[in-house]
Amino acid sequence: MPFYLLISLLTLYAVQGFQVDVDTSQAPDLHDFGVKTKEILESWYPTIKRLLHSPEFKEVDRLQIHFDPSDTGVAGTDAFSNYIVGHAPYFRKHQDDFGAMIHEMTHVLQKYKDCDGWVTEGIADWVRYYQYEPHRQVVKKPSSEDSYTSGNPYFLEWINKNRYEHMIYFLNQDCRAGTYNINIFEKLTGKTVDELWQEMMADGRKNC
Ligand SMILES: [Zn+2]
Repeated sequence: MPFYLLISLLTLYAVQGFQVDVDTSQAPDLHDFGVKTKEILESWYPTIKRLLHSPEFKEVDRLQIHFDPSDTGVAGTDAFSNYIVGHAPYFRKHQDDFGAMIHEMTHVLQKYKDCDGWVTEGIADWVRYYQYEPHRQVVKKPSSEDSYTSGNPYFLEWINKNRYEHMIYFLNQDCRAGTYNINIFEKLTGKTVDELWQEMMADGRKNC
């Protein structure tokens, strides 16, 4: 087979390997935003897949995004149907917020069978804030009013950097396999989740 043909076929495979279909028929003014969202999500699929790799990961071939005219928040995801709804009024006002879609796509790749909500959301925000847009805004350290259940990705990043560098890997693995238990924090770091939270709060540095 000629080399150029092989390259063309490989390129075709890469493009067809994961495809985002965007429906802006109910919000035609978001057409350009939808096109850009498609490009960004398709190009970020391999990275999120690598970040959240585990033995039970299943490839996603197609992801559907529908822009809905209702004004009921930012976006939502049905991970097991590979479906994201984006609320048009929000995205009309935030046409630079591709990070919100990266967060939603992360849920589609997570497909967690059993997990605490704050871990699921914390990991999706960790992908968004620490991987996709680390320069867009600094993630603020939680305040004394917060608790670990508020889902702040700062806590997960802090544990990963300061206590156990594979924390997120194993959280992701167990949640996807359906074997998650909150004791995983103690098993891997020797500290309960409450003790880790207190240690993070006592850490005087501004950034983790
Ligand atoms: Zn979420």
